[in-house]
Amino acid sequence: MIRVFKREEEPKTLNTTKAYDGEDVQEALGEDQHDKCYLCERLCTTDYVIDHFKCQKKHPELIREWLNLLFSCSYCNGRKSSTFDNLVNPITCNVEEEICQKIDFRKNRAVFSSTEDEAHAKTVELLGRIYNGEDGKPRTEREKIFFDEVVSAINQFQRTVNQYLAQPTPDNEQAVRDGLRIEQEFLGFKYWIIRSSKVLEDVFRNDIRWNKR
Ligand SMILES: [Zn+2]
Repeated sequence: MIRVFKREEEPKTLNTTKAYDGEDVQEALGEDQHDKCYLCERLCTTDYVIDHFKCQKKHPELIREWLNLLFSCSYCNGRKSSTFDNLVNPITCNVEEEICQKIDFRKNRAVFSSTEDEAHAKTVELLGRIYNGEDGKPRTEREKIFFDEVVSAINQFQRTVNQYLAQPTPDNEQAVRDGLRIEQEFLGFKYWIIRSSKVLEDVFRNDIRWNKR
């Protein structure tokens, strides 16, 4: 999970109709988020929903509020439901710095941590459920497929990074940079791989700070 940039000018239909899911809204969200779910960072060009960051049930006044709308996959949207109504806001916070995001390959789990407030703790809890399934239960088929995708992408990136560390040629450096482009999936985890080494952090500092204001 990383910070999300949203355009300032809101889509017209939010003001001219009663709908929050007009075509222009869907398009703007997809473009701003590079077609990625804000929670799991997977590309979702078909299987997506418009998520109300603060849920519709408890915050009816925010149903058509542009800053309350985010692009998410249906899987994460279902996991979030109205239970997680107090998460770290990715529009205003540098989530990727405030929540540590790692894959523990040995235990086959994603590990999240943060020492900040209640919203951070809730976000850590939700991300854990998204990647690892319900506490104490084995992953469902869907969760397994999803987690395998993450592991394979992160493995691939780790190999690219190792190659660069072994041979820091311009080509290998560029390959790491390509893996960190904003269109790429699972950047939260990749950023923490870069942060885990002083050498990497020095070279790729700007590549893990793409949208700071
Ligand atoms: Zn998702």
